Amino acid sequence: MAEEKEVFVLCVQPGAWAAVEGHGKTRARLARLLSEKRVPHALLFSGPQGVGKKQAALAVAAGFLCLNPKDGLACGVCESCRALAAGTHPDFFAVLPETSGKTVRSIKIEQIREMRGAVARAPKFSTRRAVLLDDAETMNDAAANALLKTLEEPPGDTLFLLVTGARQALLPTIVSRCMLVPFAPLDDEAMTRVLAAHDVPEELRGSLIALSGGSAGRALQLFADDALSLREDAMATLEKLPQMTPETVFSVGARLAALDRERLLEWFRYMRMLLRDVLAIMEGSAMLMNGDFSDRLFAFAGTLTADRAFAAEREATEAARRLSTSNASPRLLIESFLLKAGK
Ligand SMILES: [Zn+2]
Repeated sequence: MAEEKEVFVLCVQPGAWAAVEGHGKTRARLARLLSEKRVPHALLFSGPQGVGKKQAALAVAAGFLCLNPKDGLACGVCESCRALAAGTHPDFFAVLPETSGKTVRSIKIEQIREMRGAVARAPKFSTRRAVLLDDAETMNDAAANALLKTLEEPPGDTLFLLVTGARQALLPTIVSRCMLVPFAPLDDEAMTRVLAAHDVPEELRGSLIALSGGSAGRALQLFADDALSLREDAMATLEKLPQMTPETVFSVGARLAALDRERLLEWFRYMRMLLRDVLAIMEGSAMLMNGDFSDRLFAFAGTLTADRAFAAEREATEAARRLSTSNASPRLLIESFLLKAGK
């Protein structure tokens, strides 16, 4: 997985902007800055995960480094564009969080020092260099201070592209030295185009969009994880709860216990989300996390009292907690949840 990410980051396909969905105004603004050669030396791409910030940063890097750009956009065919696409550009540097042992992913000071050494050397293709810092909020303090020094006295003709999904975790002094490029969640139309481009079957797109809050990355991850079938299973189980007999509890328990622990935890996560939607309906709210299941959830909410829905949500939370923190038998946890929730 880590390797895949590395390849993805280092390779910029020709026509890089074409891969960025939505964000039309942002795209136009950045292209204009590039074509008028007014792009500041540091840009901060900030917004939710999975909306295209990194692709946009890479597209800007491609346009900045391109030897023959048109209106600020990369030509896709020059030596620079081809080297970027191949992941071999000598004047493009990507700094990505690293995981060492069991520690959390972070950008360390050694990486910033290495990058500073690299940008101190003369560029090969033109007078320009570009540096991408992905998940910039994972810089530890030492790394952030080292980067701050670089941003305070930037090397000539070098563009720094910081990408973050958590701007508030960055040093304010770093933020203040960058031009902010804000990204909003994608709208449904842009989401649909991304899902179509990734060959997600049409009948699944609406549900994935409903579940992923405008993040194409999240929607594609849910699709890859086959999350919709798990959620459907949780919904169908919920609908059967009022008529559960000991035999059906036994068979549902056997079926779910065959899932691996991670998937079972995910199943409980959906069960809890669905029950919270049921509680929201009972409180008169129309804002549902599973809006695409609205009819089914309203129908189910009519079959039980708020006390019972509340108790079921509590039991699901407790079962998920024990599943992730103890060696309790998954099968017993599932059966116990079904029996208590169905009461
Ligand atoms: Zn080019």
